[in-house]
Amino acid sequence: MGGEDPHIHVEVKVVRRDADVRDLMASTFGLAGDLPSQVATGCGLRVPYAMTSPRPGAVTCLACREHARVEHLRFADEVERLGSTPGSTITAGQAKLAADRHRELAAGFSGAES
Ligand SMILES: [Zn+2]
Repeated sequence: MGGEDPHIHVEVKVVRRDADVRDLMASTFGLAGDLPSQVATGCGLRVPYAMTSPRPGAVTCLACREHARVEHLRFADEVERLGSTPGSTITAGQAKLAADRHRELAAGFSGAES
């Protein structure tokens, strides 16, 4: 881990990395300057935050692409299950939208180099 890694990775918590949540947190608590300088990646490294991306087109580390694909698929299943649970906080329609979005992201990470 000598800092000569040219790849773009995904954060290990790729699915939770939600810009909306981050913006909300930042405006509510003034945490914008507190982003971690180093983050854990899907392939088990620690890299500067700037060397990660949640966008399928930007991630060049193959292990991280696979990690992100699996995570997004898993989350899609999870949210779908949540949507079909009686008394859930989200509707089946909302769950389907979210699941579709994450499946799309998963597909983006599954190869299909552009
Ligand atoms: Zn990686």
